[in-house]
Amino acid sequence: MADVLKKVPVREQDPKVRATNFEEVCYGYNREEAVEESQRCLGCKKPKCVEGCPVSINIPAFIEAVKEEKFEEAFKVISESSSLPAVCGRVCPQESQCEGKCIRGIKGDPVSIGKLERFVADWARENGIKPEAPAEKNGKKVAVIGSGPAGLTCAGDLAKLGYDVTIFEALHKAGGVLVYGIPEFRLPKDRVVGPEVENVKSLGVKIETDVIIGKTVKLDELLEDEGFDAVFIGSGAGLPKFMGIPGEQANGVCSANEFLTRNNLMKAFDENYDTPIVRGKKVVVVGGGNVAMDAARTALRLGAETHIVYRRSEEELPARVEEVHHAKEEGIIFNLLTNPVEIHEDENGWVSGITCIRMELGEPDASGRRRPVEIPGSEFRIDCDTVIMALGTSPNPLISSTTKGLEINRRKCIVASEDTGATSKEGVYAGGDAVTGAATVILAMGAGKAAAKGIHEYLSQK
Ligand SMILES: Cc1cc2nc3c(=O)[nH]c(=O)nc-3n(C[C@H](O)[C@H](O)[C@H](O)COP(=O)(O)OP(=O)(O)OC[C@H]3O[C@@H](n4cnc5c(N)ncnc54)[C@H](O)[C@@H]3O)c2cc1C
Repeated sequence: MADVLKKVPVREQDPKVRATNFEEVCYGYNREEAVEESQRCLGCKKPKCVEGCPVSINIPAFIEAVKEEKFEEAFKVISESSSLPAVCGRVCPQESQCEGKCIRGIKGDPVSIGKLERFVADWARENGIKPEAPAEKNGKKVAVIGSGPAGLTCAGDLAKLGYDVTIFEALHKAGGVLVYGIPEFRLPKDRVVGPEVENVKSLGVKIETDVIIGKTVKLDELLEDEGFDAVFIGSGAGLPKFMGIPGEQANGVCSANEFLTRNNLMKAFDENYDTPIVRGKKVVVVGGGNVAMDAARTALRLGAETHIVYRRSEEELPARVEEVHHAKEEGIIFNLLTNPVEIHEDENGWVSGITCIRMELGEPDASGRRRPVEIPGSEFRIDCDTVIMALGTSPNPLISSTTKGLEINRRKCIVASEDTGATSKEGVYAGGDAVTGAATVILAMGAGKAAAKGIHEYLSQK
């Protein structure tokens, strides 16, 4: 009999093979594995896992349905709270959310809630099951800016309440970071993201791509001229940060966002596309979050020896545990407690190396993490031809600078209520990375949900 203290293991592509392709790394559970794993759930009366889920999915109820092999019922339960379950089952940091609170985790492994969610969502898609049809239209129009998880969730929830919703998206494809940032090998675009966007559209949501709010049309014009009764801003945080160190302008230095967008949205890895991309032989990625892991694993798959340079220790790596584990298995070299100080270029202006300094951890800083401190005299050089900066991003100020009366804070994030998404401007709501700065898919979805409720309350009184 299987050990109930352990998760049912999930099948994955062999690390050596997958390091050379862009196919999905994790295969997920099949029917038998999902049912077996579901039986580890204790069905707690006061489920802590639900408290750990920012969109409050009724986790014990959907797992109970999996136990009984009622997969359509399980999908219905999840769909009441989430419009992107196949996405969340793949990319949520479950270890710090639902699974982090699971009682089973006190002695043994927590229930594999993420993999069960993924199984149910994949089963529903493969069996043509759609979310429930929306209510009758109520005649009110809402504009949503951005088609990432925040915008899609807000739009889906409002459509279910009968609103006429249009999403305006700057790029040519809907999905936000799900299509331009997170690589194919973690989140397949046509097979997984596309159908979940279609599910939102099936609720009646219209999506207009190639529309940049603040350039093509201003937010104020949506309210004053285009007949929208309210606007939700879910424009994310797509502006990359750089370090400001000498040599950063050299050829071969780029932001992780640009590198990943060229590869994911513009398919540089696929020989049928002519998108140019830096294909380094030896690549250094600076940073320790999910973005850094994605950039490093992409560079590896494009044929490079790839190093991560991160200024804190392994314990502080902000990336999901699974991504760090996968990156190590694939052969990414981790240079921890290390910080770049200068990038060197050759006579042609191309990157030839990076000087780094060793760090040690001092007292905790404002974030509660121990502050990295330089060790004097410990500089050393890593020869490389490409440096990818994955140091975080901030919101693009285009919308805030072209909209009257929209308050932002000193980090350029839009100021909005956590409970309702209401901003300083009447009828305008915001949520996701545009408000918090770079965060997670599920937090953006939670904010989209809260704002849909806020907009509904506001428009119900008008
Ligand atoms: C490479 C990478 C990997 C990540 N990995 C994970 C992970 O594993 N797990 C996790 O939980 N989170 C991960 N994240 C973070 C997560 O993807 C984001 O927190 C989340 O997507 C934020 O959602 P959002 O809807 O607020 O914004 P976004 O997903 O950024 O979507 C915003 C959308 O608004 C559009 N937009 C911007 N300005 C305008 C405008 N003026 N007019 C019209 N449209 C506009 C953008 O084009 C974009 O499509 C990752 C992020 C990146 C970059």
